[in-house]
Amino acid sequence: MEIELKKADPEIADAIREETRRQENTLVMIASENYASRAVIEAQANVLTNKYAEGYPNRRYYGGCENVDVVEKLAIERARKLFGVEHANVQPHSGSQANMAVYLSFLRPGDTILGMDLYHGGHLTHGNPVSFSGMLFKAVSYGVDPERQLIDFNQVNDLAKKHRPKMIIAGASAYPRIIDFQAFAEVARDVGAYLMIDMAHIAGLVAANLHPSPVGFADFITSTTHKTLRGPRGGLILCEETYGPTIDKGIFPGIQGGPLMHIIAAKAVSFGEALGREFRDYQLQVVTNARVLAEELMGHGFDLVSGGTDNHLVLIDLTSRDITGQEYEVSLGKAGIATNKNAVPFDKRGPKVTSGLRIGTPSLTTRGMKETEMKVVAGLLKKVLENAHDEKTLQDCRSTVMELCGSFPMYRNLT
Ligand code: PLP
Repeated sequence: MEIELKKADPEIADAIREETRRQENTLVMIASENYASRAVIEAQANVLTNKYAEGYPNRRYYGGCENVDVVEKLAIERARKLFGVEHANVQPHSGSQANMAVYLSFLRPGDTILGMDLYHGGHLTHGNPVSFSGMLFKAVSYGVDPERQLIDFNQVNDLAKKHRPKMIIAGASAYPRIIDFQAFAEVARDVGAYLMIDMAHIAGLVAANLHPSPVGFADFITSTTHKTLRGPRGGLILCEETYGPTIDKGIFPGIQGGPLMHIIAAKAVSFGEALGREFRDYQLQVVTNARVLAEELMGHGFDLVSGGTDNHLVLIDLTSRDITGQEYEVSLGKAGIATNKNAVPFDKRGPKVTSGLRIGTPSLTTRGMKETEMKVVAGLLKKVLENAHDEKTLQDCRSTVMELCGSFPMYRNLT
């Protein structure tokens, strides 16, 4: 296959080879990224991409769907088993599509939604004005309290009573602590709102019972499949059987056409992997690594949002430092460490600059790194922070990164 591509399109083949090299030789600490297994990647690169399969298994709008029906049924069954739910829709092309389908299935334009502020850790699709969610709906946002930097449930409650949202959205992109789904469910019940829980970041932890499950609290659960869950890039919706037909219609024909059957095959493979024993060990190590990383960083004098982490990510607060999130991200990039600048709660800088940096452990843990390596990585983060504009030190750090990458190949632990 790769040989064919090289012949047919050397420019694209080269870019893929270079990207493989970049991933291999970088410490990927972007909290939303991971390395999918070779099996997951293989399941995406095949003839399934040729097939139109509008509709759902056994009720398609195209002939010749007998094999893709097998694929989608397996993906659905495994998702249901993994999360203990009655209904799963595995067709969303992305996490944003999953959220859009839920909103458009149960809300009307102009309805009020209550979601977490992007600048406090929420996602664009939870009501930010630049996203369809903020354009179509009247979006109200909650955040964290300034002292503890934990979700402010007094505010959630007050805003819910004041604005009477039709849907409350819980879940985050940059929140390092356990989310109390029961507390959200109580507020939603009090005001008669639907509750949607977007577990995109923590889906792998939920699958491994390392974060409380949203099942039983949420009307709708959405997720991506490519973050801690370690599947292909895509989305997922889970709900009770009663909502199933409406959700399915919301995805197709609501907002999507033909499902990406090659991606659904890869989702099935990754759900199968997540049902195995090793996956729990992996997620346990992800959380342990994040905790050790956070402790080491605090030992080095870093300020962390909420003073630590319960999950796979750490949010560094640079407010008291003489460096922005943007500058730190660039310097770390020169040292071979991939991260992303991120707003911290009550950030005075704009989203392109920020006063924070988000880091996570899913990718490094997939490579087999453990507590010892997290201490080395924390030391590198400190060294880069203190020498952000010193090219020689950044190059020294780059050498250490190359050694680490050499000792922990990206596909060592994956078939
Ligand atoms: N929801 C949350 C909480 C996310 O963090 C993200 C992605 O970062 C999404 C939804 C959107 O996923 P996608 O990028 O697949 O549209």
